Amino acid sequence: MKNIFYLFTTAMILTAVISACNNSKDNSPKDLEKKESNETPKPEASLREKVMSADDQKAMTPDMVIQNLKEGNQRYMSNKLTANDYIGMMHSSTHGQYPEAFILSCIDSRVPVEEIFDKTIGDLFVGRVAGNIVDEDELGSMEYGCKISGAKLIVVLGHESCGAVKGALENEKLGNVTALLARIKPAMEKSKDFAGEKNVENPAYVEYVVKNNVKNSIENIQLKSPVLKEMVNKGEIKIVGAYYNFATGEVSFLQ
Ligand SMILES: [Zn+2]
Repeated sequence: MKNIFYLFTTAMILTAVISACNNSKDNSPKDLEKKESNETPKPEASLREKVMSADDQKAMTPDMVIQNLKEGNQRYMSNKLTANDYIGMMHSSTHGQYPEAFILSCIDSRVPVEEIFDKTIGDLFVGRVAGNIVDEDELGSMEYGCKISGAKLIVVLGHESCGAVKGALENEKLGNVTALLARIKPAMEKSKDFAGEKNVENPAYVEYVVKNNVKNSIENIQLKSPVLKEMVNKGEIKIVGAYYNFATGEVSFLQ
C-alpha cells in the first residue's frame, strides 16, 4: 500500500513539473521575444518604403537634385527627418541602385552625410576622405557614380572647423598624414588675399581656406577627369561646392 501511495505521489509531482515546464515554454518573456523576432516587423503606414528607381533618376536634372538636397537639409535642420522602412527599402533595393548624387565629404564624424540631406538607402554615393581632397581613387569612384550609375550631381562638401585643413595650416607631419595634408596646401595659397589674421585660431580664416579647398577639389575633378568634364560640358551633371555648419546643421551651397 505504501508503495502504491509513493508511486501515486511521484506521478502527481512529475505531472506538475512537466506542466510548469510547458507553461514556462509558452510564457517566458525571453521565448516571447524570440517568437516576435522571427516574424518580419510590419512597417507603419507613414514610413518611406520606396527607393530611387531608374525612372526617378532619369527624370531628374542636376538643378532638381540640388533643390532636393536643399529641401532635405531644411528637414534635417528642423528635426523633421523622414521616417524610413529600412527593411522594405533593403528588399526593394536588391535589384540595383539609382542614386541622384555623389557627395565627396571629409571624414569628420560630426558630418553625417546622408542625414544632413535627409537621405538613406539608394539615394547617394558618398566618398569620404579627410579634407575632401581629390585623388585617383575618388575620381574613379565619381566616374563610376556618374557615368556608369547615372548620378546627376557631384557635391564637394567642406565643413566648419575642419581638422584636416587646420592640420595643413599648422604644417602637421605624421606618417601618411603628411602626404594627405600636402594636397590641402594649395588652398592656403589660394587664400593669400584673406584680409584678417591668417592663423588657425581665426575661425573666419579657417572657413575661408575650407571653402577654397572645396573650390580646388572642384577644379581638380574637372582637370583630372575628362570623363566628368565632358559630362559637365554636355549639361549631364553639375559639380558644386557646399559648406556644412556645425551649430545650425545648415548646408550652404557655394557660388
Ligand atoms: Zn574635416
